[in-house]
Amino acid sequence: MGRIIQLDEHLSNKIAAGEVVERPASVVKELVENSIDANASRIEIEVEEGGLSLIRVLDNGDGIESDDCVLAFNRHATSKIKSEQDLIQIRTMGFRGEALPSISSVSQVELKSSTGNGPGTYLFIENGKIRKQQQTNSRKGTDLTVRNLFYNTPARLKHVKTIQTELGTITDLVNRLALANPNVSFRLKHNGKELLQTSGNGNLLQIIASVYGIQTAKNMISVSCTSLDYEVTGYVAKPELNRASRQYISLFMNGRYIKNFALSKAIQNAYHTFLPIGRFPIAVLSVKMDPTIIDVNVHPSKHEARLSKEAELVQLVENEVRKTLKAEQLIPEVNFQKKEQKQKDIDVQSAISFQYGQKAKESFPDDKTKTLFDKREASPVVAETINQNESVHIKEMMDIFLEDRNQSSSATEEEMKHIEEKSTEKIPVLYPIGQMHGTYILAQNENGLYMIDQHAAQERIKYEYFKKKVGEVEREVQLLTVPYTFEYTTQEALFIQENLDFFSKVGLFLEPFGQNTFIVREHPQWFPNGYEKETITDIIQQVLEQKKIDIEKLREEAAIMMSCKGSIKANHHLRNDEIFALLESLRSSEDPYTCPHGRPITIHLSTYELEKMFKRVM
Ligand code: ADP
Ligand code: MG
Repeated sequence: MGRIIQLDEHLSNKIAAGEVVERPASVVKELVENSIDANASRIEIEVEEGGLSLIRVLDNGDGIESDDCVLAFNRHATSKIKSEQDLIQIRTMGFRGEALPSISSVSQVELKSSTGNGPGTYLFIENGKIRKQQQTNSRKGTDLTVRNLFYNTPARLKHVKTIQTELGTITDLVNRLALANPNVSFRLKHNGKELLQTSGNGNLLQIIASVYGIQTAKNMISVSCTSLDYEVTGYVAKPELNRASRQYISLFMNGRYIKNFALSKAIQNAYHTFLPIGRFPIAVLSVKMDPTIIDVNVHPSKHEARLSKEAELVQLVENEVRKTLKAEQLIPEVNFQKKEQKQKDIDVQSAISFQYGQKAKESFPDDKTKTLFDKREASPVVAETINQNESVHIKEMMDIFLEDRNQSSSATEEEMKHIEEKSTEKIPVLYPIGQMHGTYILAQNENGLYMIDQHAAQERIKYEYFKKKVGEVEREVQLLTVPYTFEYTTQEALFIQENLDFFSKVGLFLEPFGQNTFIVREHPQWFPNGYEKETITDIIQQVLEQKKIDIEKLREEAAIMMSCKGSIKANHHLRNDEIFALLESLRSSEDPYTCPHGRPITIHLSTYELEKMFKRVM
């Protein structure tokens, strides 16, 4: 007798569940996509314990006919395709008829659904079997509850991460579903707490604001273009608003969130030279196309798709985003910026005024900038403005430097004593000769010539100062007259909320402040002067990327980050007294040889070497 048997339906469903229902977020995805396919304009999602104890999706869609309710839980039962022909032009999110049977084989499901004509249907399904079936009210739409997910598959349950992680994945998913469907109102609640709500009024920018915060939304530029086969719409962020991961690029194809490497790369290419290495843009782009061009039947969770004309789309997106960003450069920022940035803007403007003349000028929003433009066009005035700006710039840098120097020397007084006591000198007394290329300090003593990288030196001094400060945060704080607020996505905000204690240990005193927002009312006095907000933003971002906190590592990274901020850069003239002060501080640091990034600070050419080179000695 043969040994092969046909598996029964329940077992096949459980096997299929292994593919379709990987984790709680997969259930949410399948149920919400069913609601979208049923033309719902309102979808409410309730989750408890990261989706493990309960997931409920309620919609106002078409509902399911009584007879179909039972059928819907059969394997490969679907109302969405009928023939092979349909499979090559899919217009719905679902089409395999696998979700409901798979989900109900690994959980307890309650379904209430009605088409609005006559009574609705109630079903209770457990372990893939219908346990109860009765009539219910006729509210049009579907209400599906999934309880105790994976209760009968312990191995799968073991693979589920912490509630926090699962919830993070769910919020990320619902955020993207909301971004993909601006005409649908979404609401997400976890343990009764509302995490997202969108209006469904079709305004994508409003959804971006709900998901990423108002500040982000304000800095997005709209993109829209078409080619023979594609229609692309959406928003991309101004380059100054960037992130350290690709996670913030969302691509939707015919309403479906798709991970497409080539297209994501095209967007990154469009930002080439506008973003520092290792930084990524925020983008929300939606591509519409004839369904025959796209094959979504290539991946169980339909996260990937095959495009028959991918190169055309890649070109279209890269060109259009690039064009949009370039056009954006025409519009100067009218807000408080660091002098350095302003200088850059003015340079860009002058280039533009030559390139685009009157037309560019007209695109400026206010009269002030227009006047500036007029000035820029007359070349003698241009030269003068640049010179004025330059000297203001240098003066300000100097002020910053002197301030910083006072800070660092007072901070290292103790260390200085300590080092003097140790008697072994790491760096000898040096007498400044001058500065070279505005970048290197030249100094001498009886042992020869020393070349010191001024930026690296100051970074080292500041690093040691901040390292010490960060290790002993006492609340010697500076109260802010205008507190800073920071907005995050729900997923990020949940993580920050969990780790408020850790952040306060490095001087970030964050308080929850409404939906996904945190407020900082005070910061330690020793925070890098003029870079307080940037410091806080960067530290949080760093932690979010690492997704875990190790306090020692955090202190170290925070100190490095702070030391970079406001350190004198190359091409900056220093007076002799400033050079002297810098050398003194360097002498008193614990490790005066390398900057916190490991680059050397000092190069020494000994008197003996010099004499050898000049053949004074043999
Ligand atoms: P698929 O979505 O691939 O068709 P599912 O197992 O997800 O398969 O759903 C089976 C069928 O149940 C669907 O084809 C649809 O007819 C019906 N259905 C499921 N959820 C809903 C809903 N929220 N509203 C209306 N019909 C639904
Ligand atoms: Mg489905």
